[in-house]
Amino acid sequence: MRGGCSPRFAVAGQPVRREVGENIKCDALIIGAGITGSLIAERLTRQGLNVAIIDRELPGRGSTAASTSMLLWEIDRSLTELTEAYGFERASRAYRASLAAVTGLKSLVLQLGIACDMRDKDSLYLAAGDTSAELLGEHQLRMRAGLPGDFLDHAPLLDGYGIARAGAIVSPGAADADPMQLVRGLLRLAVTRGARLFEGEAVEFDTAARSVGVQLNNGRQIEARSVVLATGYVMPDIVLSTIQTVSSSWAIATTPQPQNIWKDAAMIWENRKDYLYARTTRAGRIIIGGEDSEEEIEPERRDRLILEKSRALAQKLASLWPVANTEIEFRWSGTFDTTRDGLPLIGPVPDAKGIYAAYGYGGNGITFSFMAAQLIGDLIAGSTSPLLRDFALDRNDGMAAL
Ligand SMILES: Cc1cc2nc3c(=O)[nH]c(=O)nc-3n(C[C@H](O)[C@H](O)[C@H](O)COP(=O)(O)OP(=O)(O)OC[C@H]3O[C@@H](n4cnc5c(N)ncnc54)[C@H](O)[C@@H]3O)c2cc1C
Repeated sequence: MRGGCSPRFAVAGQPVRREVGENIKCDALIIGAGITGSLIAERLTRQGLNVAIIDRELPGRGSTAASTSMLLWEIDRSLTELTEAYGFERASRAYRASLAAVTGLKSLVLQLGIACDMRDKDSLYLAAGDTSAELLGEHQLRMRAGLPGDFLDHAPLLDGYGIARAGAIVSPGAADADPMQLVRGLLRLAVTRGARLFEGEAVEFDTAARSVGVQLNNGRQIEARSVVLATGYVMPDIVLSTIQTVSSSWAIATTPQPQNIWKDAAMIWENRKDYLYARTTRAGRIIIGGEDSEEEIEPERRDRLILEKSRALAQKLASLWPVANTEIEFRWSGTFDTTRDGLPLIGPVPDAKGIYAAYGYGGNGITFSFMAAQLIGDLIAGSTSPLLRDFALDRNDGMAAL
């Protein structure tokens, strides 16, 4: 799922995992203990369920460890694009849900006291081309949807942020965090509430009976009333979706340079498909990622490109923020799937009773992980939401416009 070395590949502080030594039963089995599985484990244990979590790797060591962890509520597809595809009401519902998810994640972390370096941040959505007309239209539509933010033309952007682009939307409500610390904190909490954390691989699913039977690679079976797939970019065969595409992304972290950070250390990204994204860390490193490719997806080829891509990212950093020291301390790559509409795949797996999918793809992956925890938690508790139709695995309406 990822290669190279990001600033958070350390494994210290991992919660203890056990082998599944006998067949077991539980209310809910979560497959995958990355950020998605961990948030779902917190949610379902809070609902009082008897939860088991299984992962074939160390928790968080899938794509979560590669994440730059910008917690943005702005979705990879603009509100303008989503409105063209789905109409204003549905598009703005996704945006408002995304804003509520980042707000909810921040307050959850605060309330649970999880130390994960979470910081409230503004986001700066930069025009990628010569004009800011598209961003101005996007800003007006966001205002109509009741979303916060201000439009900055070239001059105020240059004056306020020292960034020479045609324009930008600056929005409150984003955040950044250390995703590995967040995973560990959530899992430790779930375990103290009685969740069982196992090492192992789910290889087969049997949905014929009242409960779901999940066959493991060591021959044992886990029987669960609900099974949540939080397997990141490795979907089991029972999930069929035609709207996601596998791609790769690369990122670098510079040496600490707290004296060189832009205004408010805002999260930066751009109005283009393969956008550049940048954040900072508390120590003053600049993390910048992008250079995404849908061609270089095979892990060895992807990782062989780390050096070349990291040089390209350093150059892009120099042109975005000329005062930056571009000395690279960490460089890495990871699988980074996207969906055509930029929205997640969350909800019941068609034709697989009792199995729910929690796939938050794209640059809002973690925001969507939080949404998945809420929506699936509610669904298991018996309530539903129109968002489950919007994020359904078998949706295909509106795609022609995207
Ligand atoms: C370079 C990069 C930058 C990114 N930047 C951002 C960002 O700034 N903001 C953001 O929100 N998102 C970002 N993302 C996306 C985000 O990281 C992902 O959406 C998120 O980490 C997905 O978490 P997950 O828990 O769903 O998947 P993973 O972390 O991949 O976890 C899935 C787990 O499932 C386990 N698993 C899979 N199959 C099985 C099985 N059959 N049995 C048992 N276990 C199994 C795996 O071992 C793995 O541990 C970025 C991703 C990359 C690669």
